[in-house]
Amino acid sequence: MNECLFCKIVAGKIPSDKVAQTDTLFAFNDIDPKAPVHILIIPKKHIESALELGREDRELMGDMLLLANEIAKEKGIDKTGFRIVTNIGADGGQAVFHIHFHLLGGRSLGWPPG
Ligand code: 5GP
Ligand code: ZN
Repeated sequence: MNECLFCKIVAGKIPSDKVAQTDTLFAFNDIDPKAPVHILIIPKKHIESALELGREDRELMGDMLLLANEIAKEKGIDKTGFRIVTNIGADGGQAVFHIHFHLLGGRSLGWPPG
């Protein structure tokens, strides 16, 4: 996916503030943070959204959750709590069509979301 923003970030064609990396995943600070901790966790493989996941992606998605937990602990928000969000489609508020988990924390987060 040549024109995809997050594929370009994975490839290093667009700079990002990297937080973590594995063979299959990449995590970086959101450019427009909505909380003191706002990190995006993405698979290196291009998948449009959670709606496009296949059974072959089950391990990848589990690894994304585990990496989110690991980063939450590193950032010291595991005790205070945090949120993992993935937006899907227009009503979900998805702007970048490469699946990503938002890891949000460092303040009390409102519910329900707007
Ligand atoms: P979505 O609305 O698709 O769930 O979230 C996309 C997120 O990507 C937004 O929170 C937005 O701030 C972030 N974002 C958009 N462009 C860039 C970029 O070039 N670099 C980084 N680090 N984050 C970006
Ligand atoms: Zn992509």
